[in-house]
Amino acid sequence: MVLPIYTFGHEKLREETEPVEENSEELQSLIDDMVDTMYAAAGIGLAAPQVGRGERLFVIDVTPMADEIREEGQEIPPQPMVFINPEIVAESEVTCDYEEGCLSIPDVRETVTRPEAVRIRYLDRDFEQREREVSSFLARVIQHEFDHLFGVLFTDYLGSFRKRMVRRSLRKIADGEVEANYPLVTAEGERV
Ligand SMILES: [Zn+2]
Repeated sequence: MVLPIYTFGHEKLREETEPVEENSEELQSLIDDMVDTMYAAAGIGLAAPQVGRGERLFVIDVTPMADEIREEGQEIPPQPMVFINPEIVAESEVTCDYEEGCLSIPDVRETVTRPEAVRIRYLDRDFEQREREVSSFLARVIQHEFDHLFGVLFTDYLGSFRKRMVRRSLRKIADGEVEANYPLVTAEGERV
């Protein structure tokens, strides 16, 4: 089931999530819905707060970037991937710049600097504990989604000049003046 996506300005996006205590049918159906929602919105990642939920959980599917990732000599794990209760246990000192966007912030894209590689520990959707080192594009997507679980958005990282440049766009989204080709919940709670 495709769920509406909460947009910038909605308080749900700023709340810290709670660790998931146990596997359940409800959790599995939330995961299915989040994957459906990500695909319906043509996204490559989606975190629970973006559909108004408080579980510490995100999903990704980087298949659209497969060529780019393989060109860097990286293997792509089977997609989609589910990360429950993730922890970033190490990050590289080396950083890189990459242009990011977010389904919750339609039509805003900005360059963000982040560690080039991270080691992430998490439960997969079968509740098996996993740990993997990811770099480059995969690390980028994972860090962006991980941030959502702690109320952090990519626009928070912009310097004061770039922040000023996007302020108007963000204000419009927060005021509900936003359109996308997927269902939205704006700060007023209305569906667009
Ligand atoms: Zn996002």
